[in-house]
Amino acid sequence: MEKIVQQPPFTILIEPTEGCNLGCWFCGLHGMREKGTKPWYFMNIETAYRIASEIKRVGWKSKIVFAQHGEPTLNPDFLEIVKVFRNYLPENIFHIYTNGYAINRAEDKDLYVEQMFDAGINNIIVDCYSENGDWNFINDLKRSWNIVYYTNKVPLYSKSKKPRILLLPPIQDNEKVTRKLANHCGAAAPLDRSYNNKRCAMPFRELAFRYDGSVSICCDDFRGEYPIANIFDMKIDDIWNHERFQAARIMLYNYNRNFRPCDGCTNISFKVGFLPDYKGAETLPPITEEVQTLAQSVHRFGPLSNIVKRKWEN
Ligand code: SF4
Repeated sequence: MEKIVQQPPFTILIEPTEGCNLGCWFCGLHGMREKGTKPWYFMNIETAYRIASEIKRVGWKSKIVFAQHGEPTLNPDFLEIVKVFRNYLPENIFHIYTNGYAINRAEDKDLYVEQMFDAGINNIIVDCYSENGDWNFINDLKRSWNIVYYTNKVPLYSKSKKPRILLLPPIQDNEKVTRKLANHCGAAAPLDRSYNNKRCAMPFRELAFRYDGSVSICCDDFRGEYPIANIFDMKIDDIWNHERFQAARIMLYNYNRNFRPCDGCTNISFKVGFLPDYKGAETLPPITEEVQTLAQSVHRFGPLSNIVKRKWEN
């Protein structure tokens, strides 16, 4: 296959923790753990160094988002991991999605928030999943933080470095803003093949690192059914331009999700008319037999996680 160089990702996802304390009904972790909670697998400092130094080497200005398949602050080294990234990447904007776990359990909640910002986080995005959730830590904060409620007029990913705490609306109120729940490729809800003729922008825009440094096609691929490579085996730009990514991009650019885990995935992307680059100035070739065969064979190298079959998968 002819090599095609993809523009750098808008977003690099970092997964401090795989696993969660909550086990919410709508989460794809239920397709990886019986209760959607434990075991908790943690990114270690060495992996953080490896990824951060590689991003620095290639000079990508992508936003860094600490999130993925678990609650980041469960990781006892979470603050150290953020510091490692900030040390290597002084200019990138850092965001975190948290349910508030560690903040709410800290002896001094203001101090923990301060430590998160000091470590390098710019934007703490708080998931408010239930009425009595850990997100209520905001009611106990004594200092005057920049706390914002997410609406259609408030950017999710602020480009400002000014510290901000952003509260997301509860899932049950999700009609208020665009927050559609996807099926996480079958791990969270049944597959729906009516989406199979839609483009998807994820592998063009996002590079998603799992806790152990491995990368799969996107964050919605909860179980890692489409593995690309691991940062300990390959340079970051070689992972980003890997032929497995390239095959998936050609399929998705040509409105074809007929390969796992995209087959039946309900994720809807925005601005898909601008693919494959930022402005839609370039094009990708049509799907060949070689591309289709490659895309449809990658799942044989996965999954990267344990699979707990959901009732609709039996
Ligand atoms: S179609 Fe779904 S699984 Fe495939 S790249 Fe897009 S979001 Fe990921």
